[in-house]
Amino acid sequence: MDLIAAPALSTLAPPLQAAGGPSLVGATRADLAEALTGIGVPAREIRMRTAQLWHWIYFRGATSFDEMANVSKYLRAKLAEHFSLARPEVAAEQISADGTRKWLIRFAPRDGEAKGAEVECVYIPESDRGTLCVSSQVGCTLTCSFCHTGTQHLVRNLTTQEIVAQAVVARDRIGDFPGLKAPENGLLPAEGSRFVSNIVFMGMGEPLYNFDHVRDAVSVLADGEGLSLSKRRITVSTAGVVPQIGPLGSEAGAMLAISLHAVRDELRDTLVPLNRKYPLKVLLDACKNYPGASNARRITFEYVMLKGINDSPAEARELVRLLKGIPAKINLIPFNPWPGAPYECSDWERIEKFSDIVFNAGYASPVRTPRGRDILAACGQLKSETEKLRARARLASD
Ligand code: SAH
Repeated sequence: MDLIAAPALSTLAPPLQAAGGPSLVGATRADLAEALTGIGVPAREIRMRTAQLWHWIYFRGATSFDEMANVSKYLRAKLAEHFSLARPEVAAEQISADGTRKWLIRFAPRDGEAKGAEVECVYIPESDRGTLCVSSQVGCTLTCSFCHTGTQHLVRNLTTQEIVAQAVVARDRIGDFPGLKAPENGLLPAEGSRFVSNIVFMGMGEPLYNFDHVRDAVSVLADGEGLSLSKRRITVSTAGVVPQIGPLGSEAGAMLAISLHAVRDELRDTLVPLNRKYPLKVLLDACKNYPGASNARRITFEYVMLKGINDSPAEARELVRLLKGIPAKINLIPFNPWPGAPYECSDWERIEKFSDIVFNAGYASPVRTPRGRDILAACGQLKSETEKLRARARLASD
């Protein structure tokens, strides 16, 4: 079983129980069954006890075993002796003027790590929905030339538990479990909408390089007796790891987003170096065959608008031609600058022109409003503090 060891509590983290053993927050049903078996719960009770724990952890957001009123006192004590419900630490929280929240989440150190790995996780409230952007890896190996995360060297896959825990932490912080109060200083979706209604795997990392953990995390997030997110509202974004695209549809059933960004291989090779391995034709063929795609479940194509690089009307027309036959929507993302970035964002008229061409060809082509730019929480701006601190230390020693 892959469980997060109980982390040290930061001053920012909400007060939790005194840390016991490894945390069960983020565990799959199989993990819970194994944990229960390990402390001597008889086989005939495992299903029922797993269902109880599941409800308390994911539906109610319990932070202590004591709350679990329908679990016997004896078992609660036994659980507390061996496990905890500790969350990973929120090492920093930033709130943007537009209500976007960015958390730097520090996991407990795993085998051989001197210090817990850190990722960023972003919450974007809108009037009718709340989208949580989760990370799937610490750092990223892809080195896309316009993305800040790609400049971070430290990389490892997150476990299923670490991915799911991001959603639990987010719901803790915005008061989205029964009995919690919403923060006063935040903009949140309107009454009646769920605070976290959508999850996008668009934070740090390439989710399809961490396929098994992402697939299992999707199944925990979508479980109707727990966090209960609809799979139609869970989107996994990839730069184009072609062999895993089919399995994502058939095994996880999540919505697919492709970071396309260019319509010619020559340019895409430089923007998204993974294109050299899986060029446009094979990528788009995989999209054509994506299990479950339909006009009601369209594939999102993300296209970052880079001034003078990929933003001409001819490229917009070529994009339309390339996507023929694929149930698609196109998401134009104004480039979000970061310190030292070698690109600029396209001018607004240019973006509008591009968007009009795509729209007139029959595609929805919303321009993604940059959110949380003031706290570097927008697309491609994520880079965890671990790395920033290391960079600062390097500069200091130069
Ligand atoms: N590795 C996956 C998941 C990351 S998603 C993928 O590539 O899809 C993050 C999205 O933000 C991707 O579409 C990425 O291309 C885009 N992005 C990266 N840097 C950006 C920037 N500086 N401005 C706008 N979008 C950016």
